[in-house]
Amino acid sequence: MDNHTFTAKMEKKLRREQRKLLRRALQAKNKGIHLLDAQNYQKQKRKVARLHEGVRNQRDDFLHKLSTEIIKNHDVICIEDLNTKGMLRNHKLAKSISDVSWSAFVSKLEYKAKWYGKTIVKISRWYPSSQICSECGHQDGKKSLEIRDWTCSICHKHHDRDINASQNILAEGVRTFDLA
Ligand SMILES: [Zn+2]
Repeated sequence: MDNHTFTAKMEKKLRREQRKLLRRALQAKNKGIHLLDAQNYQKQKRKVARLHEGVRNQRDDFLHKLSTEIIKNHDVICIEDLNTKGMLRNHKLAKSISDVSWSAFVSKLEYKAKWYGKTIVKISRWYPSSQICSECGHQDGKKSLEIRDWTCSICHKHHDRDINASQNILAEGVRTFDLA
């Protein structure tokens, strides 16, 4: 079982136990017991805390392994300088950004790049990596997050959203790197 599947399972379990915690709280309330004195509630609360810790450690382990692997195997790594705070204000994006703990991942990449003498090139957050056709360079307009793949209106090349964007980020990063 890979890390992602494991984390997803842990998160599902966590949500289930959180619902149980809420039920315990309601039961105590119905019986007129203060939450501090509600044994079942307190026991469940500790269980939820341990699960939170587990999910967090699991995610951190995964980000460590992934960042080390990327840094060891590549000399130049191009990433988007995403405006995480701005994105977190956007509800649709908040989930996907917090899921991958993007800023934690980038900081791991950055200090490991220093350790191993590798280069990180940050691309401007305004660079439209998701809109440009990596095949012909045509800027095809905004693509909402639901659109996972699209076809260029000029050269008719069919793109996977993320793969196309990563190809653009790489090309832009190499261009920026060469200019510096
Ligand atoms: Zn095209």
